[in-house]
Amino acid sequence: MMEFDFIRDYLVQQYNDDELVLGVGDDAAVIRPVVGKDIHISSDMLLADRHFFRDVSPADLAHKILAVNVSDMAAMGAAPRWFLLSVALPELNREWLKVFCDHLFSCASRFGVTLIGGDTTKGDWVFNVTILGETPSGEALLRSGAKVHDDVWVSGQLGLAAAALDVHWKKTLLPSSVYSLCEQKRLQPEPRVALGLTLRRLAHAAQDVSDGLAQDLGHILRASHLSAQLWADQLPTLPELAALIPQQKISKEQLYTWMLAGGDDYELVFTADASQRQAIIHAAQTSQTAVTRIGTLVEDNPEQPAHVTILDEQQHIITLNHQGFDHFA
Ligand code: ADP
Ligand code: MG
Repeated sequence: MMEFDFIRDYLVQQYNDDELVLGVGDDAAVIRPVVGKDIHISSDMLLADRHFFRDVSPADLAHKILAVNVSDMAAMGAAPRWFLLSVALPELNREWLKVFCDHLFSCASRFGVTLIGGDTTKGDWVFNVTILGETPSGEALLRSGAKVHDDVWVSGQLGLAAAALDVHWKKTLLPSSVYSLCEQKRLQPEPRVALGLTLRRLAHAAQDVSDGLAQDLGHILRASHLSAQLWADQLPTLPELAALIPQQKISKEQLYTWMLAGGDDYELVFTADASQRQAIIHAAQTSQTAVTRIGTLVEDNPEQPAHVTILDEQQHIITLNHQGFDHFA
């Protein structure tokens, strides 16, 4: 298949969108933003061997490249609207691309985004999405907005993707039923868009958890000049995974490491005033997304700024070897 056949047969879509003047097909897409809205833009790239295994299914890959980008919009409290997809592929394989595109467009319609352009080139498996979203002007959820004594909250469950990855790397063994739940979350994370939208008026700061909770919360702390205390025994995870601790199939330290330093959760970590607790629980119900209060923000200590202190049930401090995944470590 030729590049232009791919674009014409697979990528050109109908759209019905007041703000989208022109989508795929010309030299550029054209958006005519509405007055009173801010446009949010971000990119995330997936590389073979680094972010996905080469034998990943086209459906899982389509889900993930879109979900990780939509998650950045959710973290801003933005409604995801449009995306560009740039790919390097060793060949244009019809069957593979058909499944990839079918899944991409079904995820796109579920997440509320329209493909408006991109680029296609021959090369070794790179998938880059640039996503655009909207908030009412000035209403973005920023990392810098956190206040001292805010509650720290997180959505969903943590550590599942990291646990599944450790099975792939043969660092751990999990019962197959638990593994498949974890693997499902690793392959098809669910971006928390509905929750992000409702948090816009409730939370002071938000961030999505892609590189590990401790590290990603650290971004809020640095931007807001604060530190945090987290309660390890309050961190939400898959009950079936936690149940392996009393069965002595995994250690508590192992689970804490997955929850605090594992990547690929794509949950939202956010901070809010204690007076918002009821409203946040209500927002979680309306957006059908579980949320858990996991800690509190404290004044920064200049000697150890933006520090995350992790406390166990006895209020003893726990230390982890590494706080999250650093691509250049
Ligand atoms: P140019 O030569 O100007 O870069 P292309 O031939 O690469 O144009 O692209 C033609 C049209 O197809 C453009 O509208 C471009 O945005 C779109 N396009 C190309 N590749 C992709 C892709 N992978 N996903 C979405 N749109 C694409
Ligand atoms: Mg091009």
